[in-house]
Amino acid sequence: MEVCGTHTMSIFKHGIRSLLPESLKLLSGPGCPVCVTPQSDLDRFIVAARQKDVVVASFGDLFRVPASHSTLMKERRQGHDIRVVYSPMDALDLAKNNPDRSIIFLAVGFETTAPAVAATVLMAESENIQNFFILSAHRRVVPALELLITHPNTTIDGFILPGHVSTIIGEIAYTHIPEKWGIGGVIAGFEAVDILYAIHQLIINIRKKTPCIENAYQRAVHPEGNRKAREFISRVFSITDAQWRGIGMIPNSGLMVNSKYAAFDATNHFDLNTEKSASPKGCQCGEVLMGLISPIQCQLFDKACTPGYPVGPCMVSSEGTCAAYYRYHR
Ligand code: SF4
Repeated sequence: MEVCGTHTMSIFKHGIRSLLPESLKLLSGPGCPVCVTPQSDLDRFIVAARQKDVVVASFGDLFRVPASHSTLMKERRQGHDIRVVYSPMDALDLAKNNPDRSIIFLAVGFETTAPAVAATVLMAESENIQNFFILSAHRRVVPALELLITHPNTTIDGFILPGHVSTIIGEIAYTHIPEKWGIGGVIAGFEAVDILYAIHQLIINIRKKTPCIENAYQRAVHPEGNRKAREFISRVFSITDAQWRGIGMIPNSGLMVNSKYAAFDATNHFDLNTEKSASPKGCQCGEVLMGLISPIQCQLFDKACTPGYPVGPCMVSSEGTCAAYYRYHR
């Protein structure tokens, strides 16, 4: 399984699947943060956007993702103030430039994104900015891998481990996996040769029955990851159980703002309660994210669901598996 959405795109872009023998199957995993964000969080983002005197700041890839009854893009068309930002620091600038408004940054992403969000909260604190808030939907990758390994319906022999996330968490974050479950992984970069090398090493280790974690992306990933970035995360966030789209609750897989920084947690300042969330009818993103089906097995693929009219987030996001299949595999 390639865990990361960027790997999925790169594998398609380079035609790697078409080079592999039939006995070797690549599954795409839950490595697209927008795709794994559950409907309940998306609905909360909509509720946040409807708050009075609030500006919602978000990365652009969330704009078209369908929540139960709306999208951020529709909300903006209806007059709510929702801005695309390229970093959480941009959102903090919005707060500084609009002291009479509250800025809520929608914090979506894995360990790759969380350090920058944490650093922004620390900066907001040091500059005494009181109108900047975050709505955390951050997720942690390793608990999801553990769930996939132990899930009764999955059959995964090895992981192509995410390059970006690993720059933060390091190879040490995975070393318990082969010891505990006998499944190995290779941390890989994003060039074709990186991915081919990772597949090659996985095959060798599976054949020899010597599962291990190999860091094949040493030009970016230190064995211990990025200590400073992890320190930022642990200063601002606490680990919590979290829902994943289609997968359900995964213990210890989320990051919530901890009590020390509660002043920056949007959930403490706004009424963000939502009505019951409803997943898009017929969408099988959950099964796609777990590698149980390929997007072309979804009945809506390339019919009711296309990048122009996406039904589920896996078709919207630039890293989504359904979008990758649509673009490269039709
Ligand atoms: Fe959901 Fe569309 Fe993918 Fe089907 S093709 S799983 S509807 S995103």
